[in-house]
Amino acid sequence: MKNVVVLGSTGSIGTSTVKVAEDLPERIRLIGFAAGNNSELLLEQTRKHRPMAVSLSDAAKAGELRGTLGAKCEVYSGAEGLLKLATMPEADIVLIAIVGTAGLQPALAAIRAGKDIAVASKEILVMAGEIVMREAREHGVKVLAVDSEHSAIFQCLDGKPTESVRKLWLTASGGPFRDKSAWPQEKFSDITVECALKHPSWVMGRKITIDSATLFNKGLEMIEARWLFDIEMARVDVLVHPQSIVHSMVEFVDGSLLAQLSTPDMCLPIQYALTYPERVASGRVQTNFPKHGNLTFEEPDTERFPSLKLARRAGDVGGTLPAVLNAANEVAVEAFVNRKVNFPQITLIVARVMDAHKVVSHPTLEQILAADAWARIEAAKAI
Ligand code: MG
Repeated sequence: MKNVVVLGSTGSIGTSTVKVAEDLPERIRLIGFAAGNNSELLLEQTRKHRPMAVSLSDAAKAGELRGTLGAKCEVYSGAEGLLKLATMPEADIVLIAIVGTAGLQPALAAIRAGKDIAVASKEILVMAGEIVMREAREHGVKVLAVDSEHSAIFQCLDGKPTESVRKLWLTASGGPFRDKSAWPQEKFSDITVECALKHPSWVMGRKITIDSATLFNKGLEMIEARWLFDIEMARVDVLVHPQSIVHSMVEFVDGSLLAQLSTPDMCLPIQYALTYPERVASGRVQTNFPKHGNLTFEEPDTERFPSLKLARRAGDVGGTLPAVLNAANEVAVEAFVNRKVNFPQITLIVARVMDAHKVVSHPTLEQILAADAWARIEAAKAI
């Protein structure tokens, strides 16, 4: 039995995690939930799973919840609440699926408390991959990937050292604007928020869906892979695979390739992270190849999607630059969703902020957070 804390329990990954736990009641016990503002769903999850502690972002809502739940469950709030949950003495593993940068401090707190972490929030490794992986090594804890691509690579690597790897191939659906004839670059400024929110193969949160349309999502994943698997950016590459059946691949030095495949369903990588190193029976995911038909692959178009080049540069340079890319992108995406900038301007804003940044190498957490704050201000100015 594993005791699991879920930070971000009411979001897309969080609700899938709850489903996985419901599939495997003899394996997984949910002992803590943290949510943003969705107190109704948190209450429902709490009544069903009876965790020992929960937390909400908003202190007033947490107060109401405390009144409703009584003494049955500890109720915390805010950033402090996240830290309380991340370090619960009973926890074996902390799954972090909070949008934005709020997951970083709880991730480090969990590691320092000796917990394995399952990472769904990309920001944690993009911003502070060097620190997070070093701390995890020092504390002897695992950093497990929840992202489908990184889970795929982790499964294919199966403990092989990076010296045996020629290349890690992250697959990308290509997003809704992949087709060059339907969406030539000239038409990119006409892209509406509604179009960009229609993802061809995955149902996800809003920020990540826009990131999939610009391919920044894949760029962030390249940087994540660089840290998670301790491999230089030159050996991390992207292949567009619109069917999203091959979740990623490892090309080994002998020329052999291993891929992990399935019908897209986030419950699979979540379950693998929570039950690793075991494989546990589940009927949830079934893959029917004749039904899916052809699997196709193509090179990403970095002219139409320069985000990949920006991410490669950020990953190569390292230091505070990935945090700057991430923060500027967050602000630019928000501005796009609020119709303040157009679609190509998301990438232009990120490039401009990156160009203006003075990189700090091997930064401390404080320097990373300072770079993040700086980039947000610069991006807002650029808007
Ligand atoms: Mg992904």
